[in-house]
Amino acid sequence: MDRPHILLVEDEIHLARGICFNLEQEDYRVSHVESGEEALERLAYDRFALIILDVMLPGMDGFELCSKVREADTRVPVLMLTARSEEGDRITGLASGADDYLTKPFSLSEFLLRVKGMLRRSSWYLPEPIEEGYRFGENEVFLLSYRARTAQGEIDLTDLEVRMLMLLFQREGEAVSRSELLERVWGYANDVETRTLDNFIVRFRKYFEQEPGNPVYFQTVRGVGYRFSRR
Ligand code: CA
Repeated sequence: MDRPHILLVEDEIHLARGICFNLEQEDYRVSHVESGEEALERLAYDRFALIILDVMLPGMDGFELCSKVREADTRVPVLMLTARSEEGDRITGLASGADDYLTKPFSLSEFLLRVKGMLRRSSWYLPEPIEEGYRFGENEVFLLSYRARTAQGEIDLTDLEVRMLMLLFQREGEAVSRSELLERVWGYANDVETRTLDNFIVRFRKYFEQEPGNPVYFQTVRGVGYRFSRR
């Protein structure tokens, strides 16, 4: 399995070097950037198992960065580093979507334990490292590489599409309720417009069904949710 790739957003160079060194000693892969703007650039084309970000950054601060990260990805774990221990900061941090926070100065062992715990908790939603595609009809879906082969050609899948497909595949043949899909795919976000879910299904039918208006694989279970079936 690949080493977990961590993104560190920290402008204090000495601290950043120390953190990178210690994470690499633990066999994690680390990318370091010094600002929120650079972090967003990296996040546009790279996926990370964990994001560690400092609250006090030049330009965009850690809270703003965290909210932007959450807009794009509800599930990537975020550990926030704060120099201040005020309750207000902790609450702002958690409200902006951080999963956990650590007050500077922190001990190395506590930091590493926190990182390890967050990676373990988040790993349940990562796809199994199986190269083989998931086949149904004329389709083959590769959850690890975010690709699918369909009757219309090859397509790229988004992170949310992959999460949703993974859940439906795991529960093949069973009705999965709307609330479970919303919770497991979109995270705790309770303000997700529920039409979003239906739009995803509409998209899957366009990708994978011979007749999107008469679906075989992505079935509606009236009053409950959706069911994936290889028929
Ligand atoms: Ca800082």
